[in-house]
Amino acid sequence: VRHHLSVIKSKSHLNAFLSVYEADALSRAAEIDQKIKEGSAGKLAGLVVGLKDVIAYKDHPLQASSKILDGFTSLYNATVVDRLLAADAIIIGRQNCDEFAMGSSNENSAFGPVLNDIDNTRVPGGSSGGSAVAVMADMCQVSIGSDTGGSVRQPAAFCGIVGLKPTYSRISRYGLVAYGSSFDCIGIFGKSVEDVAHVLEVIAGEDDFDSTVSRTPVPTYSKLLTAERKAYKIAYVKEIDDSAGLQPEIRESIQRKINQLKKSGYSVEPVEFPLMEYILPTYYILATAEASSNLSRFDGVRYGYRSPNTTDLHSMYKKSRSEGFGKEVQRRILLGTFVLSASYYDAYYTKAQKVRRIIRDKTKEILAKYDFIVMPITPTTAFKLGEHTENPLEMYLADLFSVQANVVGVPAISVPCGKDKDGLPIGLQVIADDFEEQKLLNFSNYLT
Ligand code: GLN
Repeated sequence: VRHHLSVIKSKSHLNAFLSVYEADALSRAAEIDQKIKEGSAGKLAGLVVGLKDVIAYKDHPLQASSKILDGFTSLYNATVVDRLLAADAIIIGRQNCDEFAMGSSNENSAFGPVLNDIDNTRVPGGSSGGSAVAVMADMCQVSIGSDTGGSVRQPAAFCGIVGLKPTYSRISRYGLVAYGSSFDCIGIFGKSVEDVAHVLEVIAGEDDFDSTVSRTPVPTYSKLLTAERKAYKIAYVKEIDDSAGLQPEIRESIQRKINQLKKSGYSVEPVEFPLMEYILPTYYILATAEASSNLSRFDGVRYGYRSPNTTDLHSMYKKSRSEGFGKEVQRRILLGTFVLSASYYDAYYTKAQKVRRIIRDKTKEILAKYDFIVMPITPTTAFKLGEHTENPLEMYLADLFSVQANVVGVPAISVPCGKDKDGLPIGLQVIADDFEEQKLLNFSNYLT
């Protein structure tokens, strides 16, 4: 704990942490040392964990990196937090992210951007940028983030670490600040697949506080973790290879990996996925629709910030929301409200729901024939701060390859796969079928 605290201090310019629970973490460490001596310590004894600022930790600040939650303190623990604490993990702090987890660069935070530790002029990815940087820079061992459309896998790739988004419903969302509830997944960052496996088996599984969470039993992922070579059948999507926006070095490095896999005896085959171009619009219609509804609870009455210059109830709502929410969050509320409005509902929302079903069916068809789909997780490596802030559509394109797993609900992981000419990490994404986390982790372990 002392080591990680000192790194957090020495690298404070990265802006990865919004709060550091120094005294708490040190005293818990001492307690856990004692438990270890007595042989009564939990499964994650002493593991130093950071929490993205969208996960409730009782009596600690929670803001989703937004001004609208100024001064808000959690009244209860998220289920994942309860389980981490029960397993004797140590929570070291609260991590910066894009406001309400909306973004791909961590530049939408009310607390300013997080910097990539490899090159401070570049973004760490988003929305869980602080969580990725914290693990990469050794400020903690593991971070808990959220992945609605890539927010764990994309920053993991930009920072050269492992990031897992499990199957939708594998981990309880109780105590996770809602963005797009039918997409939201809690995810895990680690330096190794093994670390991720250890945490997943502790935090996953049934929970009476989240009616959408699955009752499928949770395997002991870490015990069953192998790196043995099985005769897996792997698919890669042909259309991605031709994608104009894909950085050539990423194409090459994924191709190299595919060739290596073939040489090692895996069957790797191209498959067609002509729906590629519909995934991103489907995601941005549905996620913003859900966000506009989820964020209606922030009205200046119940939580956090209330504008001081109000005259009546209506002006209080209006001013609190206009002053409290940042620009990108407001854009999404407007977009979501638009696609849900009576005149446009069928044209956008209903249509996108139908397309979502078709994308799911087609993806599941591939996963019925193949064990995994491999593809890039990002079209480019970490871009420069400010590079896409003026053009939201350009920023949304950074999510081109990450949103499919959320639209479909299947588990996906990003593992390091080489570097580009500037030394920036490249991520390889592996997608598996529903609840096949064990297989996914085993294969990822082999890959790394
Ligand atoms: N970048 C995507 C978005 O802005 C994904 C965010 C996320 O996964 N939370 O919506």
